[in-house]
Order: sequence, then structure tokens, then C-alpha cells
Amino acid sequence: MALKLKKILLIGNNSETKQLYELLSDIYTLICADSTDKLLENWNSVFTEVSAVIIASEQAIANDYDFLKKSVQNGRFAFTPLLIIADAEQNDAQLKCLDYNAVDFITMPFQKAAVQNRIENAIRIKDSASFYEIERMLKELPSNIYLKDSNGRYIFATHYWHHLDHSNDPDWTIRGKTDLDIRKDRENAKMAMEKDIEVIRNGRGDHYIIEINVDDIQEYFEVFKEPVKDQDGNITGIIGLLNNVTEHENLKRQLKNAAVIDGMTGLYNRKEIQFRIDKAIENYRENGSIFSIIMLDIDNFKQVNDYYGHQQGDVVIITLSDILKNNQTLFKGKFSAGRWGGEEFMLLLHDTELSAASYIAELIRQCFANTVFPDMRSQTISLGVTQVKPDDTSDSLCIRVDSGLYQAKKTGKNRVCIV
Ligand code: GH3
Ligand code: MG
Ligand code: MG
Repeated sequence: MALKLKKILLIGNNSETKQLYELLSDIYTLICADSTDKLLENWNSVFTEVSAVIIASEQAIANDYDFLKKSVQNGRFAFTPLLIIADAEQNDAQLKCLDYNAVDFITMPFQKAAVQNRIENAIRIKDSASFYEIERMLKELPSNIYLKDSNGRYIFATHYWHHLDHSNDPDWTIRGKTDLDIRKDRENAKMAMEKDIEVIRNGRGDHYIIEINVDDIQEYFEVFKEPVKDQDGNITGIIGLLNNVTEHENLKRQLKNAAVIDGMTGLYNRKEIQFRIDKAIENYRENGSIFSIIMLDIDNFKQVNDYYGHQQGDVVIITLSDILKNNQTLFKGKFSAGRWGGEEFMLLLHDTELSAASYIAELIRQCFANTVFPDMRSQTISLGVTQVKPDDTSDSLCIRVDSGLYQAKKTGKNRVCIV
């Protein structure tokens, strides 16, 4: 395989540049220019690919350093090192080149190893200077940008956030550490390292959102990671981007919530509880998982509104909803509670047979009947209970439980009717 040689631009046409050409042509690809004429205009085509520029001193100082001055103005040598061919004892004119961003001198008599060393050092210094320069600039962005090696060890990260367990020492560095070494959110750290391994293994980037709960702060971060490859296409590490998307994520969750939650009671809305009943029917048909439902309605509620006002009526509805939520917790989330209509509610009880469902219904009835309202008489509810039967549809089930509720109303209210 042909070795890829670094490209060096050699400017000047004298015995020294000729000697350098002879000396270096087997270790670098040398691009030669007799003078600086036209180089500035053609910079983009000539200079962008070269790793270093070597210039004969008379070319550097010609026309009052015109070439160097213009190059500095245009930031030409910000990332590419410039070396001057100079006398063994550099004179003042040559030393002045340092003011124009030259990084080093190559002096006669030329020794191959020494010259190569100077060129390589100059390239390395510029590379790391550019690296730090870029790192410094990236810190200005709100995103955290990081680089890791192929073992998941950080090379740099632009921000050290509060979920990292790092010291206050200003010299503390993330360099060489892994997520597990430094993150307080251990689960995320473990996942980050597993994802890194995946990216390195299959060479494909990844994108996901994580929740971080550290120092009593709940945040969401969007993570992008991509493999970093060397010139030969080998994966050498991972570059990542982290954006704090807490505000956006909270909004998304609120919207999602708003679509399924009844605003006044905090219970599921009718659409959601209906959807859950449909799912339970499906699950019953496919896996035989039985369930029961309870429908309940406040007794004589119109009177409450009439005697005490609509606002007090709302208090009664909210109090009943809270009782339903508490019972939900009591029965370990086995049931979903939804607001079916104004003061009518539907409960879905998973893995619950009729007897257990009736027991829960009776418990809720008693609990509500025993609730004391300030400046208001006690209130009651009527309930219908039923268990899913073979051939039930969502409709037939709801009609049956509704008939149970109707019976409870008809036979005196404040009671549970099992159907
Ligand atoms: P029954 O015992 O037969 O259920 O008698 P009821 O008076 O409770 O009759 P019904 O269930 O038909 O009455 C429902 C009433 O609930 C009518 C409506 O004005 C009232 N309502 C519905 N939604 C709300 C609400 O959000 N807040 C208040 N305060 N009242 C509501
Ligand atoms: Mg009612
Ligand atoms: Mg009603």
C-alpha cells in the first residue's frame, strides 16, 4: 500500500530550497512555489491540504513582509505552521517573521533528522493549538460536546455539568475518565457505556433522550453520538453532543398527559378509560385475563348544586376523585379510574373477579358516605359492578354495568348492585 505522505508547501527558488527538496522529497509530498506571487489568491486550492509551509527567508521578508502580513490578516497560519529557512544565527529581519506567526526556523547546514523533527514538532504544536482553540470556542455553545476514545474514556468535554462527580479543583480534568468513573447518575452512565460499545461495534451513530435526576433536579437530555474514524476508516472513538431539552420534554409530557387526563379531577378522561377497557377486552380474548368494571354516580347531585352552588358541587366531585385515587394506590395500581361524565365515574380492575370488585366497590361507597364536608351534608354514591363475560364487547360490558348502576339508583341509591 502506498504510504500517504504529508504535503508540505515549499516557497522559494534558491540553493537552500533546492537542498531541502532533495533532503525531504522521500518523506513528504513537496509542493513547490518559486515565489509568493499568486499564492494568496490561490490559497484555498493550494494551502488547505498542506500540513506545513516552509518559506525561504528572502521570500518571507520581500516587500516589507507583504505575504506574511496578508496571510496573518486572513488567518492563514492559524492552523498551518509556517517555518522560515534562515541563517544559523537568525538576523533581525528573520526574527521579525515570528511577529507574523512563523513558528520556527530551519537553519543551515541542513540535517535530515533535525529538519524533519522541526517540521513534525511545528505541525504537532499547531494541531494541539487548534484543538484547544476549538475546544475553547465550543465552550461558548450551550450544548455539551465531547470526544471519547474507543474505550469510552473522555478526551475532552466542553462542559462539566452538575451530574458529574468532579472536584472543585480548577485543574480537574475529565480526560482519561469514563462515565462510570464520574457520573452521579449511575444507571445512565452504565447505559452510556453500553451505547458507546454498540456505536464502536457497528459503526452507526445513536440518538436518544435520557432523564437525569441528580441533586433534586430533574432534567432531560438529548444525546447524539457518532463514531469518529481515522483516515483509513478505522473507528477510533466517539463524538457526542448533549442538549438540555428539559423544557421541551416537560411540555411534551404535559401535552401527552393533557390528552388522557381529565383536567378537573386528575383522573383519566372518558376517551382514555374507554381505550383501556377496549384493551382489556382484547387481552381477555387473547390471554383470558379476566377483569371487572365499576360504574358509579353521585346521588342527587343536582340538589347539591342547587343548595350549595356549583363551586361546592365541584368540591364534592374532586373529593370523590381523591378517594378513587387513594383506593387505586391501596390496590397497588391494579385499577384505572376515569371520569365517565359530569359526576359519573368508571373503574377498570385488572385481574379482579366479581367478588373482589364488589368488595372494593363497597369500600369506596362507605368511604365516600363517611366523608364529612364542611358546611354541607354528607353525600352518597350508587355503584354498578360487573365482571367481563365470554362474548362481551366493550359496549355490552358498559351497558351491563350501567344497568347495575341504574338498579342501585332505582332500589334506593347509596348501594352497590352486582350484575
Ligand atoms: P341521581 O341520584 O339520579 O344521579 O340524581 P342526580 O341529581 O345526581 O342526577 P344526574 O346524575 O343526572 O345529575 C348530574 C348533575 O351533575 C347535572 C349537572 O348539572 C351536574 N354536573 C355535571 N358536571 C358537573 C361539574 O363538573 N360540576 C358540578 N358542580 N356539577 C356538575
Ligand atoms: Mg347523579
Ligand atoms: Mg349522573
